[in-house]
Amino acid sequence: MSVFIWAAIAIGVLIALVLIFKTTKSSPHEALSFSSHCKKCGYKTNGLKCPRCERLAE
Ligand SMILES: [Zn+2]
Repeated sequence: MSVFIWAAIAIGVLIALVLIFKTTKSSPHEALSFSSHCKKCGYKTNGLKCPRCERLAE
């Protein structure tokens, strides 16, 4: 019975690793889309300087 439990744990770990790998693989696209937003306040800048944070910096 304990062997079955360890097998289930191993399968669970494998599924988790696959999910982590998929998330890591898709992260460059997410980082690319995230770059169009301000890293500080999240305001949509389309890769330009954030007008909100520019105003705060002055
Ligand atoms: Zn900002």
